[in-house]
Amino acid sequence: MVTGPAIRTVLGDLSPADLGVCNAHDHLFLRSPQLPGQELADAGAAAAELAAFRAAGGAAVVQWTPYGMGRGAAELPRLARESGVTVVAATGLHQAAHYTPEIVARVRPGLAELFVTELTEGIGGTGTRAGMIKVAGGFHGLDPHARYTMAAAAEAQRATGAAIGVHLELGTGALDVLELLCGQLAVPPDRVILGHLNRSPDLVVHRAAAEAGAYLAFDGPSRAHHATDWRLPEALAALAEAGFGDRILLGGDTTTAAARSVDGGPGMPHLLRRHRARLELALGADLVIRFLTDNPARAFAAEWGAGMAAASA
Ligand SMILES: [Zn+2]
Repeated sequence: MVTGPAIRTVLGDLSPADLGVCNAHDHLFLRSPQLPGQELADAGAAAAELAAFRAAGGAAVVQWTPYGMGRGAAELPRLARESGVTVVAATGLHQAAHYTPEIVARVRPGLAELFVTELTEGIGGTGTRAGMIKVAGGFHGLDPHARYTMAAAAEAQRATGAAIGVHLELGTGALDVLELLCGQLAVPPDRVILGHLNRSPDLVVHRAAAEAGAYLAFDGPSRAHHATDWRLPEALAALAEAGFGDRILLGGDTTTAAARSVDGGPGMPHLLRRHRARLELALGADLVIRFLTDNPARAFAAEWGAGMAAASA
């Protein structure tokens, strides 16, 4: 039994001090009509990827796969147990393009309740609880689907305390997201994790988002985003020099089967084998270990509420 803030993992609540080296944004399972033929659906490959991550020194993985995208909720507890790697699952909803219109229409009416149920009781009938809420913005802005989803996420955040992780399309729209979530919807900025900022190396926007109090996830590197990956050290150095070293999270974001290390891609181990070493050269080892341990431990820990009843009581 964990008292105080806890990280909600697929095997139960964990004291933040026990998180260890954390890949703050990645995927063991993922399915989308946008990535046909590249599904992460093989539990054996997921187990091998986790083992490779652990062998590289990894201790925890946060899977940002939201509702309806083949999260593998039934498999995750076994995979976590067998690998010895802490796994956090997500609730939430992605951009409409990742679903059939029927699925979006079906979940819309009770979206906040769905998120709360998955955070407090479990995903589907599995009993596996989500530990964060994943939502998504659009390219340089927010469409009505994104606004609706973020309003539901804010409601579920208030009810549970869970952190909200945001997919920023190509890293853009960070300030629009903060204006909506933290401005209009009153989510505390330190409960918001902005993802994919590495894909848009706009140092001014990074700094403004950090000044607003949000966490910034630099969740590359990946082959798909090679064009911006090489600018990561300078972006992180600028943030650290401005005093925002405590806001930075690192992740791998493996989204396709071909990107897995066990299938020949960089995969999860790359974060620790190559990327970490490169960042240590640029920033020093002390800072990089904070990005991988202290910062995610703070960002994902929550004072878990009991759900809607507690929120309205
Ligand atoms: Zn992702």
